[in-house]
Amino acid sequence: MKVNTDLHLHSKYSMASSGKMELPTIARDASKKGMKLLGTADCTHPKWLEEIKKVSISNEEIRIEDIYFIPTTEIEDNKRVHHLLILPSISKAEELAERIAPFGNLEADGRPSVRLDGSEIAEIAKDIGALIGPCHAFTPWTALYGYYDNLQSCYGDMAGYISFLELGLSADSDYADRIEELHRLTFLSNSDAHSPSINKLAREFTQFEVPEITFDGLKKAILREQGYRATLNVGFFPEEGKYNLSACIKCFTQYSMPEAVENKWRCPICGGIIKKGVLDRINELADFKEPRHPDHRPPYLHLIPLAEIIQMALDHASVQTKGVKTAWNTLVERFGNEVEALIYSEPEALKIVDDRIVSAILAFRKGDVIIHPGGGGQYGWLELPENLKAEKSDQEKKIGSKKKKASHASKGEKTRHTGQISFSDLENIKSEKKIDEKPEKTADETNKEASDNSKSQSSIFDF
Ligand SMILES: [Zn+2]
Ligand SMILES: [Zn+2]
Repeated sequence: MKVNTDLHLHSKYSMASSGKMELPTIARDASKKGMKLLGTADCTHPKWLEEIKKVSISNEEIRIEDIYFIPTTEIEDNKRVHHLLILPSISKAEELAERIAPFGNLEADGRPSVRLDGSEIAEIAKDIGALIGPCHAFTPWTALYGYYDNLQSCYGDMAGYISFLELGLSADSDYADRIEELHRLTFLSNSDAHSPSINKLAREFTQFEVPEITFDGLKKAILREQGYRATLNVGFFPEEGKYNLSACIKCFTQYSMPEAVENKWRCPICGGIIKKGVLDRINELADFKEPRHPDHRPPYLHLIPLAEIIQMALDHASVQTKGVKTAWNTLVERFGNEVEALIYSEPEALKIVDDRIVSAILAFRKGDVIIHPGGGGQYGWLELPENLKAEKSDQEKKIGSKKKKASHASKGEKTRHTGQISFSDLENIKSEKKIDEKPEKTADETNKEASDNSKSQSSIFDF
């Protein structure tokens, strides 16, 4: 069966996380987003683990209604590299906590920082039967390729045990598959959400074909055993990420690689540090000029949260306005969840909301958007092309048509690779898909997110 998963998020016990990140809220909102399986996050935090136990059905089964959880945690190592661990059971989470407790304060943060290196953490993961891989692997802070040039230098002898890599918001599989050592790994797209807001939770997700919704089922898919595997990565356009291009972390002015080098990575405008962007980093690391996808690599679908598409279409200031929420709820109630509305719904059926929203959703499906790349900690942003803002949806162009790039926002402009997937390709996926369509009736009150800032104001932990 196919399940949509978001395996990296954070509980209310993680730094800079919303107090609303509690399991029942996460489950309810994830269901509306179209997810079936989530990471518990933060599974070595003593108080959070108690909450996990409260909703668990057994040592291996953690479930709230039809939303399943698997114990996961993100751990920061002694070089500040972040690792994602996916664990078989609650008792293994307790074992992990015992193993790492001597090396860090587990109560201080849902995402513990430990005085262990990547290989030591990987060794512990192996001992307890957990899966492990690097988080948001290419970001310039707290990530494997931010500090190392290859898996081996981070994980040493344990590099062979690494089974997946989390792409992060600033990269996609076109980026990562330019690096040969990553071809054997399964790529995860996860939200890294610190709030259950409708534009944070599951803003990136991975769809897997699994035999059953258990750790063993997921493990088979991540290790690609018996034909099980990841079937779709869904996420941002990499340019939308906060660290896509090299840019000043103070004034966000973007620089090409030669300009940054010439200025010794200091911003000539304000004196701030220029942080190397993910694209420039990938260019440094790449074995191939163009991505070479291994046969097992699933398509990567570029999307943004439905709420942001609605916001853009209505030209509202945030996703928290009444107009955006009303339209979002209308679509989610009609189609059962966001994934159904955004990806799979028939254009005609969408016409229960404002025409501008319908046009915007269809434009996104065609990849017909202008991308203003992010950098230096500032998110990139998208807009509808002028002609499309007014235009209706009958001008069907094939996806793969060029995506227009913003010219004034970026000096590091380049042609992006055309989409790896079209919505007609998705028809195949659609016909086999198995997404739970039970509509969630509960009133939507979760989204008033005081702590959930839009776009560029989020914490640096929010990749
Ligand atoms: Zn992280
Ligand atoms: Zn500057």
